[in-house]
Amino acid sequence: MRRATEPRCPCGGTAYATCCGPWHRGDGEAPTPEALMRSRYAAFARGDVDYLVKTLHPDHADRADGDAALRSSLADTVRTLRYGGLRVLDARPAGPDGLAQVLFHARIHEGGADRSFVERSWFAHDGAGWRYLAGDLLPAPGAAPAALRIEAFERVLAGRSP
Ligand SMILES: [Zn+2]
Repeated sequence: MRRATEPRCPCGGTAYATCCGPWHRGDGEAPTPEALMRSRYAAFARGDVDYLVKTLHPDHADRADGDAALRSSLADTVRTLRYGGLRVLDARPAGPDGLAQVLFHARIHEGGADRSFVERSWFAHDGAGWRYLAGDLLPAPGAAPAALRIEAFERVLAGRSP
């Protein structure tokens, strides 16, 4: 049972107030790509569309149709999906191209359907903070894979390409 006084963060970290809460409130920026990714998962779980817009990189494809379309799409997503847990599997710090990677498993349900997936996310710093740039995603219903690394994930991705 959840303790009423100190709700746990949806990202699976410690108490929300000291985990992703500060970034959601605007008390600074998530300091690493992994922290940013965790805070975005928690924002999806909490329906915090403003934070999801703020932390989406200016070059992300979802911005192509404008701010209103982006907000509408995010509002639909947070209304229809249930966020059951997050497990970070692997991460790579930014290289010379400035791009950092985080591999994670997200437990997601839509009605009775298991929409859980594994995603390798790309992050870039825009001068203010880390921002979500793009993601490669594969369906992965059920529990998180025990030990999936980015190298192995890339091999699976390559095997699925036409
Ligand atoms: Zn958190």
